[in-house]
Amino acid sequence: MVEKRLFGTFGVRRTANDVLTPEFASRLAASYGSIVQGTVAIGGDTRTSTPMLKYAITAGLLSSGCDVVDLGILPTPAIQYAVRNYYDGGIIVTASHNPPKYNGLKFVDEFGIGTPDDMEIEVEKLYFDSEPNRASWDKIGECFSNDTIIKEYIAETIKRVDAEAIRNRKLKVVVDCGSGAGSYTAPYILKELGCEVTTINCQADGFFPGRDPEPIEPNLQDLIATVKNLGADIGLAHDGDADRTICIDEKGNFILGDKTFALVEKHMLKENGGGIIVTTVATSQAIYDIAEEFGGEVIATAVGDLLVARKLKDTDGLFGGEENGGLIFPDFIYGRDAAMTVAKILEILVKEDKPLSELVAELPVYYQEKLKVECADDLKQEVMAKIADEIKETTDFELDTTDGVKILKDDGWVIIRPSGTEPIFRCFAESDSQEKADEMASWGISLVEKYKT
Ligand code: MG
Repeated sequence: MVEKRLFGTFGVRRTANDVLTPEFASRLAASYGSIVQGTVAIGGDTRTSTPMLKYAITAGLLSSGCDVVDLGILPTPAIQYAVRNYYDGGIIVTASHNPPKYNGLKFVDEFGIGTPDDMEIEVEKLYFDSEPNRASWDKIGECFSNDTIIKEYIAETIKRVDAEAIRNRKLKVVVDCGSGAGSYTAPYILKELGCEVTTINCQADGFFPGRDPEPIEPNLQDLIATVKNLGADIGLAHDGDADRTICIDEKGNFILGDKTFALVEKHMLKENGGGIIVTTVATSQAIYDIAEEFGGEVIATAVGDLLVARKLKDTDGLFGGEENGGLIFPDFIYGRDAAMTVAKILEILVKEDKPLSELVAELPVYYQEKLKVECADDLKQEVMAKIADEIKETTDFELDTTDGVKILKDDGWVIIRPSGTEPIFRCFAESDSQEKADEMASWGISLVEKYKT
C-alpha cells in the first residue's frame, strides 16, 4: 500500500497555526471537497483555533464547488450523526483528547465514518501532486448553517434507552466535560433523564482551565472527590470532543475503559439475545468471555475506531468498542459516542438495580501490562516478520497478524505493535495474574530487542 503522507489513524492532527495553518487547512479541505462534490457538514470542539480553521476549511470546500453547512460547536459524534442522515461528507475540527495547543481535522464519508485509506491517499495526491478542483465563479458553493443538530442528537440519544425508568430513579450524577464540546450536550441529556446533576468544567473554554482534555485518572481528581463528597451514584467524564466517556463508581474508583465496554456489551447482548460485537485485537479477553456466555460473536479488527465502525456497518454488527472507553452503537452513529454510552450506563444502573462498583466486580477479571521499546521506523516490518517466524518455528502458540504480532498462549496473550507516529513498538499483555502479564509483556519486549539490531 502507498504510505500516507498526512493522515494518521483518524484525520490530521498538528499544533494549531504552526503546521495546521489556515492555508494548510483550506487546501486540504479543497482536496477533500474535490472528491466529495456535494454538501459537506462542518463543526468542531471548543479550542481557541477552531473558528480560524472552520473559516479556512469553509473557504476550501466552497472553492472546490461543495456547499457547506456549519453545525456549530458540538461533539464529534453529533456531527457524524448529522452527516449520516443529511449530508454527503463532513469535516470535524478537533484534536480530541490532546492538549489545548493542538487541533486537527477529522474527515468522514457519507455514512459519518472516518474516511477510508484509499480516499485519504487520493486527497493527499490532490494536495501534494496536482491541484484541487477550483470551481468557476458561477459554480462556487453556498454556505448554510444548521443549529438544530444538538437538540436532535440529544433527543435521539434519549429515545434509545428506557428514559422513563431512568427518570424514576433520580440518579445523582456528577459530570466533568473538561470544558470541551460535551458542555453543550452532556448536562442537558442528564437533566432530561431526570438526574440530579452537578457539573464540573461544563463551561466551554478553549484554554481548558479546569483540566487537560484527556480523561485519564490524574486529570479527574476533582471529579473523583466530588463524587465522594456528594455521595453520587456515578461520575462521568468526557474528552475534548465528547466521543469518549469515562466512569467513576459511587466509591470514587476510576473505571477502566475496557470494564465499561464489557459492562455495556453484556447488557446489549442480553437485551438483544446475541449479536456481532466488533473490537480491536488489543482488547481484553473479557469481551470474548462475555460474548460466549451471552450468545455474541466477536470480530477483531486492527487498532483504530473507524476500522471498528466500518466493520460494524459491513457485518450489520450490534455493538463495538475499544479498550479506551470509546463505544460504538452502530444503529445510531458509526463512531465512538459518549452520549449514548452515558445513557446506556445509566439504564444499566437502573435496570440491574446495583451500584456501579458491584456491576464492575461481576465482570471477568484479567490483568494487564503495557510496555514500549524503541525501534527505528525502517526496521519495524523486518522485526515483526522475524518475530512471527520464530513463534511459528519454535512454538505451537496461535498467531494473529491483523495488526502487529499477537501471540496467544493458554493463559493469556501479548501483542507487539509498531507505533504509527513514533519510532517505538508497543507491547501489551494480558493474563490471569499480574505477574504473568508482566512476564509476557517483558517477553514481548525481549523479542523486539533481539531482532532490532
Ligand atoms: Mg475524542
